[in-house]
Amino acid sequence: MRITMIGSGYVGLVSGACFSDFGHEVVCVDKDEAKIAALTAGRMPIYEPGLDQLVAANVAAGRLTFTTDLAAAVDLADAIFIAVGTPSRRGDGHADLTYVFAAAREIAAALTGPVVVVTKSTVPVGTGDRVEAVLRECQPDVHAAVVSNPEFLREGAAIGDFKRPDRIVIGTDDPFAREVMRAVYRPLFLNESPILFTSRRTSELTKYAANAFLATKITFINEIADLCEAVGADVQDVSRGIGLDNRIGRKFLHAGPGYGGSCFPKDTLALLKTAEDFQSPMHIVEAVVKVNESRKRAMGRKVLRALGANDTGGEGARGKTVALLGLTFKPNTDDMRDAPAIAIATTLADAGVTVRAYDPEGMAAATAMLPGLIATHDAYDAATGADAVVIVTEWDAFRALDFQRLAATMTAPVLVDLRNVYRRQAVEAAGFTYIAVGC
Ligand code: NAD
Repeated sequence: MRITMIGSGYVGLVSGACFSDFGHEVVCVDKDEAKIAALTAGRMPIYEPGLDQLVAANVAAGRLTFTTDLAAAVDLADAIFIAVGTPSRRGDGHADLTYVFAAAREIAAALTGPVVVVTKSTVPVGTGDRVEAVLRECQPDVHAAVVSNPEFLREGAAIGDFKRPDRIVIGTDDPFAREVMRAVYRPLFLNESPILFTSRRTSELTKYAANAFLATKITFINEIADLCEAVGADVQDVSRGIGLDNRIGRKFLHAGPGYGGSCFPKDTLALLKTAEDFQSPMHIVEAVVKVNESRKRAMGRKVLRALGANDTGGEGARGKTVALLGLTFKPNTDDMRDAPAIAIATTLADAGVTVRAYDPEGMAAATAMLPGLIATHDAYDAATGADAVVIVTEWDAFRALDFQRLAATMTAPVLVDLRNVYRRQAVEAAGFTYIAVGC
């Protein structure tokens, strides 16, 4: 199969590399010339474990190429995937589909024969209909079937998720498109990955429902964590106690600073907008969005209290220094989009606190977003002169800190563990004040 992937970001690049690894001939397109130049030179524009080797192997095998020339890449493709960004539209939270429609128009202009166009981007219900209308308007005589095939991979584990997915959802009623999609996913079909064929609208909504549900699970346990703190219970035991129930499941029950990242925040907002448009309110998701937003700032206030300041900072905060360990929204990515660290760093800086920080892969993106941040080169460097160290993201590099070494550089030995990485007893035995989440 010849596959064209439009958009070579976290999803497009990983999907393109994995498809080529299955044996397909893949062209990854991006309009960002610097990105394509880097990829052509063998440099990865993003951090994703294992991606560099996967790309290098498939480039060497002649199955994976990169270009900025969308028209040439479209011409010979059996399936054209759209994997461009769908961020929140500024001001109202609707999914911004500018990039999707721009890609659709460019595809339409380049089409010469029947083709299957697949939206891998996360798009609201009805977007497939609109993409199809764009294609028909430009090329009334060409059969172009539009399929919804949302992506469920997680950054940091993207290759494994793509190659061993829990399920593949394919939304189309077009028999030709169905056959093409079967051929595209045949290697996974042979591996017995469940493939769910649905209508296009059902497929589009399935992606949002999945993300909203996971965001709800996280937010639920975060509120339980607050209640645990109030009543003197331990949220980690509560998580285990409920997660061992098969009906509930153990995943996404880790209390923390709130969800962030490139998907949950924008997708929950976009789902609410769809619900509003169709006058079918989603009160649960509304509450999730509200609770999560306030939680990120609440974590900043939690750190202020750890410094001995009040919730708004005041004299107790001014002149103090905090070291943030981990800035990306989760470990094993360099993605800073909507990361809780942004709200935490901003709350601290607003209160007059000096913020030092270290992240294994996210420093470049973080310092671009948070100009006041003092970038450091490891956890111990970050902790130098700090009145508190805060674990914001649970990178492996922060799971076995040398507390003696940390304390030696800090002004006061205080650890705020927003990911509950450590055990209270061990940290306190090392002479630290330990503040965790929900226990
Ligand atoms: P991204 O911003 O990393 O990448 C998008 C790429 O598309 C950019 O490189 C951009 O230059 C390129 N692009 C935009 N318009 C283009 C055009 N007309 N022609 C060629 N290239 C174009 O975005 P991402 O994180 O990969 O997300 C892509 C989509 O996948 C979104 O809808 C997102 O919601 C969804 N998704 C993301 C994840 C994730 O973990 N990041 C997971 C599942 C689904």
